[in-house]
Amino acid sequence: MPNITHNIKLVQQRIADCARGAGRSADAVTLLAVSKGQSVDRIREAAGAGLTRFGENYLQEALEKIDALENPGLEWHFIGPLQSNKTRAVAENFQWLHTVDRIKIAERLSRQRPGSMSPLNLCIQVNIDGEKSKSGVAPREADELATAIAGLPGLRLRGLMAIPTPGNPAVSPREPFFRLARLLDRLRALSPELAHLDTLSMGMSGDMEAAIAEGATIVRVGTAIFGPRGR
Ligand SMILES: *Cc1c(COP(=O)(O)O)cnc(C)c1O
Repeated sequence: MPNITHNIKLVQQRIADCARGAGRSADAVTLLAVSKGQSVDRIREAAGAGLTRFGENYLQEALEKIDALENPGLEWHFIGPLQSNKTRAVAENFQWLHTVDRIKIAERLSRQRPGSMSPLNLCIQVNIDGEKSKSGVAPREADELATAIAGLPGLRLRGLMAIPTPGNPAVSPREPFFRLARLLDRLRALSPELAHLDTLSMGMSGDMEAAIAEGATIVRVGTAIFGPRGR
């Protein structure tokens, strides 16, 4: 059994060191604990160590955990691909969705978000490496999607998310994160209704230092906290 409480301290130290090294304050970077493939007991331990934000990729698994934990102090982020017939459960049970890449999904979420809840926070997923098989919009399509989403009630567009392909040794690991950060700058300058965008969801266990150096505001960290996943 991994020592989750200890791991969390190590990860928080990595974040703080790296933020400071980049001239940023440690609390400018939010730690999202990615709990997919991890048990309810492990999530409970992480919550006991002070974490409040958890990311899940698979809807059924996530809903079971949210139910089992019954902890209204936790904030749930959906970070996996979302099919349009599953939007309602996300609209009703999550505070964030990081993977919007189609207006149709955003329109459904906007209609389905209960009026009693605060707006659903959204990030547009960008295919920052231009990989054919990957989800996410092409960078040049982000302007149009962001503008369309900004007009929808029930949603609050917060920024951009990306999962760069690891390991092209010819390119600095910071390069895709740099490009995502410049794309967010461009969107913010595009119109007053996008000027409030404040989120770069980028960086995981293996590349959070590079992401923080380029301005990540949310790092999504799984194995460095919980150890290997078993589903
Ligand atoms: C699984 C996953 C993570 C966490 O990855 P680790 O390497 O375990 O830190 C982060 N983001 C997304 C979108 C994921 O699917």
